[in-house]
Amino acid sequence: MSRRWLFADQLGPHFLDDRRQPVLLIESKAVFRRRVYHRQKAHLILSALRHRAAELGAQATYLRTETYAEGLRKVREPVEVCHPTSRRALEFVRRRDGVTVLPPRGFVTSLDDFAEWAGGRRGALRMEAFYRFAREHHRVLVDGDEPVGGRWSLDVENREPPPKDGRLAVPAAPVPKEDDIDAEVRADLDRWEREGIRFVGRDGPRRFPATTKEAQARLRHFLRHRLPAFGPYEDAMLSTDPWLAHSMLSSSFNLGLLDPLDAIRGAEKAYRSQGAPLASVEGFVRQVLGWRDFVWHLYWHFDAGWRRSNALAARRPVPGWFQELDADAVQAHCLSDVLAGVRDHGWVHHIPRLMVLGNYALQRGWRPAELVEWFHTRFVDGYEWVMTANVVGMSQYADLGRMTTKPYVSGGAYVNRMSDYCGGCRYDPRKRLGADACPYTTGYWAFLDRNRDRIPANARMARTMKQLDRLADVDRVVAQERRRGNDAP
Ligand SMILES: Cc1cc2nc3c(=O)[nH]c(=O)nc-3n(C[C@H](O)[C@H](O)[C@H](O)COP(=O)(O)OP(=O)(O)OC[C@H]3O[C@@H](n4cnc5c(N)ncnc54)[C@H](O)[C@@H]3O)c2cc1C
Ligand code: SF4
Repeated sequence: MSRRWLFADQLGPHFLDDRRQPVLLIESKAVFRRRVYHRQKAHLILSALRHRAAELGAQATYLRTETYAEGLRKVREPVEVCHPTSRRALEFVRRRDGVTVLPPRGFVTSLDDFAEWAGGRRGALRMEAFYRFAREHHRVLVDGDEPVGGRWSLDVENREPPPKDGRLAVPAAPVPKEDDIDAEVRADLDRWEREGIRFVGRDGPRRFPATTKEAQARLRHFLRHRLPAFGPYEDAMLSTDPWLAHSMLSSSFNLGLLDPLDAIRGAEKAYRSQGAPLASVEGFVRQVLGWRDFVWHLYWHFDAGWRRSNALAARRPVPGWFQELDADAVQAHCLSDVLAGVRDHGWVHHIPRLMVLGNYALQRGWRPAELVEWFHTRFVDGYEWVMTANVVGMSQYADLGRMTTKPYVSGGAYVNRMSDYCGGCRYDPRKRLGADACPYTTGYWAFLDRNRDRIPANARMARTMKQLDRLADVDRVVAQERRRGNDAP
């Protein structure tokens, strides 16, 4: 049986064909020299890789080298590898003699499934249509030919604001226990820092699973205790609780520790036999089977240039305070709290990423390519394949809507409705002018004014543009935003 080379995001049992298959694991230090990673992300990747090596024992050859090429030169037998998750890595493995590249794993739908679905379609590719195809194809939450509950998406039931008393009563997700491997990783990272490799963010106890066992424990706990509240509060934000009822499983899926189909089948079982509410179950399945698989396929389906799109001509550099996660430099309560979450955990949930961090960047015209790098390196679950769709397409609208119908841009009213931030803020979400004008509200109108001719006219934007036309003070709003420039708000 061939030796299976596992990249550091292919660590679960579903990346092997046989429990005794010989394995190759390579820890490349150059990966950490090339980019400035969040310290906790670097810790998680190394911890997961080393835990896998410990689990496999003599079955695995574990190499610590500067580069993958150096590691491969030490191996004297042919190896095979599952299709890697970035274009650069795919090119690398395809160019090596003696390396056989197998189809991808770690996603529910195959490249052929997606080609079959996308091939017959005209016009823009939309997640909702792909999701329906994937549910039918894999018979998830369907009875006969119909979706369980009569509708394919219960999205409208997933948008509750946070509870008024500022608490979501769900048990906290189990936190993994650090062990000797984590201690060794921490000591190595300290040494690497002294040698000049730079990290950002705070170190802290490891919060995310590094083994399949830990990931499965988190999944089981989520399905039992947190899933019921997941659906209604999926979009809500609370200053006192960054986790709410989210699964915190993205890094486990993306490291390959957890098979997404197990999570989907587990959620379906929770609905069918344990009484979990359908809106929550369907909402979770939509994220994993719909969004996650969809953005994976789009990465390969669109040309490599998609990643460099900048159709809104956003030319400002991402400022130092944002790059360094300097939450204390920021007075805007929402942005400061969310940036602190990234600094302290390398994770915040979807809406802070999209409507606080991404929205602020979009309004200010920060360079999408720099933001791609920022999200990739600052988040424990960041990988290149997931960045292009989420950052370039969804959050920055830099491709003018290849996957969305309009830009995800909003003023302070959205944050005010979906969070408890505005009450404790020195700014006022209703104001667009003056010392206490909310930077999101001002930024919203300034963004629309600047991009009026670039954003394609469609029915969803028409009403917004009419509102902009009715603003008598738009020149003053724009001037106020220009004065703020790239300073922390
Ligand atoms: C600007 C921006 C950057 C993002 N960067 C990443 C990233 O680097 N890595 C990443 O995995 N997700 C990313 N996402 C998607 C999403 O925000 C995270 O997957 C989610 O917040 C992770 O937390 P969770 O595991 O608790 O997810 P839950 O809210 O519990 O959702 C369940 C699962 O659904 C999947 N999922 C949901 N939405 C998406 C999506 N849009 N794309 C891919 N998977 C999705 C994830 O695997 C997640 O674990 C990004 C979104 C935005 C708007
Ligand atoms: S007022 Fe504006 S800046 Fe302050 S928390 Fe609300 S949205 Fe954020």
